[in-house]
Amino acid sequence: MSSFPSKTEIMVVGAGVAGVIAAIAARRAGCDVVLVEAHSYPGGIATQALVQPYQTFHSPRGQVIRGLAEEYIERLISYNGSLGHKPDPLGFATTVTPVDDRVARRVLLEWIDEEGVELYLSTAVTDVKTNAGRITALKLATLDQSRLPLGIPFGHWQRGTVPEVQTWWMDVGAVVDATGNAGVARLAGVECELSDECQPMSWLFALAGVDEARLRKHVHANQDDFVLNPDKGIIEEGYLGVCGFFSLVEDAKARGEWLVPRDRLLFFGTPHPGEFLVNTTRIPSGFGTDEEIAAEGIRQIEFLTRFFKKHVPGFKDSYISRKAEYIGVRESWRAVGRYVLTREDVIAGAKFDDVVALGAFPIDIHSADDSGLHTEKLSGRGHYDIPLRCLLTNEVGNLVMAGRHISVTREAFASTRVIPTSMAVGQAAGATAAVMTRGMNVAVDHINEAMFTQSMIASPDAESDMKLPYSLVHDLLLREDAVLHDDMVF
Ligand SMILES: Cc1cc2nc3c(=O)[nH]c(=O)nc-3n(C[C@H](O)[C@H](O)[C@H](O)COP(=O)(O)OP(=O)(O)OC[C@H]3O[C@@H](n4cnc5c(N)ncnc54)[C@H](O)[C@@H]3O)c2cc1C
Repeated sequence: MSSFPSKTEIMVVGAGVAGVIAAIAARRAGCDVVLVEAHSYPGGIATQALVQPYQTFHSPRGQVIRGLAEEYIERLISYNGSLGHKPDPLGFATTVTPVDDRVARRVLLEWIDEEGVELYLSTAVTDVKTNAGRITALKLATLDQSRLPLGIPFGHWQRGTVPEVQTWWMDVGAVVDATGNAGVARLAGVECELSDECQPMSWLFALAGVDEARLRKHVHANQDDFVLNPDKGIIEEGYLGVCGFFSLVEDAKARGEWLVPRDRLLFFGTPHPGEFLVNTTRIPSGFGTDEEIAAEGIRQIEFLTRFFKKHVPGFKDSYISRKAEYIGVRESWRAVGRYVLTREDVIAGAKFDDVVALGAFPIDIHSADDSGLHTEKLSGRGHYDIPLRCLLTNEVGNLVMAGRHISVTREAFASTRVIPTSMAVGQAAGATAAVMTRGMNVAVDHINEAMFTQSMIASPDAESDMKLPYSLVHDLLLREDAVLHDDMVF
């Protein structure tokens, strides 16, 4: 198609939070960047599935994720789209960051435009060409949005061909796979993994019109029925999130009036007073057809809305203010890269020479039945390193993973999958793609700043001030044959 560009230095596939940040990082390093998103707006799960609060930017010892992720939060705050970082009311993570998904869409769109990233919405990558261990071109297809299955996000629906309108190929120097499900890696023949038992899906929705004072009073008076931050002052006047009402659910079960495979209610305040995002529906992966999954999601939302109004203190006059457009798919394919981060690495706070981002969210596995959550706190430093090798594959030299599908085990994924960590990884991925494409000609200052001053930063302790020199990354990529050689000028 002559109207579409035929080549770009870097293509970022997927405009979820990781993809947007990766694209901006690569752009700030001086590269031409095309960002491709199958849906009609950016943000991925964070906006499509209404996911919030973002958790977590902090380990118990301080902030471990800054950089573009923090800049994004500052932009949201300036539009009243976030309350900033707040102590976690459940005491599980150190902080949580409430965000309005509608403001997030706007901020991301504006930001992408401001940075000069070329964005293609309603467009998917559906095929790749490879040569000598590199991706040389990607096939793009504009999509007929009206033919995407109701409620199921692109890349997760089960059947049917992609509803392509127009297709064309673009040559690429380097590719960032930010599809959330290793979509490009799988097309390129990279080894990928899908657990036998993925975490369940949840269809999120928001209830507004809540009498917050009444709710706080109830939680305060019945603390044994909740998972709470030891700082009880939070219940009285802090940012409120609620995990519990175990007895209410138990009683409803005993009466045969409970229709959700969960043992508790889970909901979090949004940036708007009297509004809560309900994260309580639960649909096992492999539940049924796309239509059955969508129907079950709606059924649980309707049931819970009635249940909240009837039984939960403060919710008598509540109403649905927003419903996610798509069901939230927690777990999907992951790439198997040059290093696979493990549960033990996460728990022990592992350190790596090629660290490019830090993570601090505890392990949190939602079980597929009503047996609750499997959680594990991080010991030692309270945060862990994510090495660059988790973003690189064994098979393709110019491909970088960004976001939740980096190379980790299922247990480690239950920590690395969260939004702040996905963004930190995204920044490192974008900077890495820039090094791959431009080699020594990349804006080195930016790479140093992006990957090592901002993204991993932190400095909760002196050791984190350690900076990974740009030359080390370059050498690593060169060793791995990832950097374009002089005779391979793109
Ligand atoms: C129900 C649920 C609750 C959660 N709760 C929290 C929470 O409380 N706090 C928290 O921090 N995290 C939470 N998470 C995790 C977090 O939301 C995600 O893991 C994170 O948003 C992933 O971001 P990402 O950018 O890596 O991927 P995604 O958000 O999945 O973005 C990938 C993007 O790529 C696009 N795409 C896919 N394939 C293609 C293709 N071939 N071509 C073009 N585009 C493509 C998709 O449309 C999508 O927009 C939750 C997740 C779920 C599902």
